[in-house]
Amino acid sequence: MEHPSERDLINYAREELGRYKKFRIIEHCKECPECADRLIEAAREHGPEPEPFKLSKWNKISIVVMLGALLAVAFGMWWLLRSVGQGSGIYEPPAAGAPVAPEDEIPQEGAPPDETEAQRLG
Ligand SMILES: [Zn+2]
Repeated sequence: MEHPSERDLINYAREELGRYKKFRIIEHCKECPECADRLIEAAREHGPEPEPFKLSKWNKISIVVMLGALLAVAFGMWWLLRSVGQGSGIYEPPAAGAPVAPEDEIPQEGAPPDETEAQRLG
């Protein structure tokens, strides 16, 4: 059986071969470990480069938009909790130093009659 040429193996690695030629090479490599190794080697050296991780413009924009949305949500939650806490007092314990009306200012039932009224009567 004829070994595939180096050129064919490289073309195979670059996916530039037709279906039939690829089939021929695969069939050959099944029976020829030597060519199987050559094919693996060719694939390693000439195969399509794994795409390096890089952010496209749209990736960056979507990330920025997503971060902005997260910030907006976080701010919204903070604002909501803050306003709820102020409104109902559920989230705030009753103030320890709550103002208590001093004894003096409480109107007393048994207060002495007003002097001006006494004069008017008299
Ligand atoms: Zn071979």
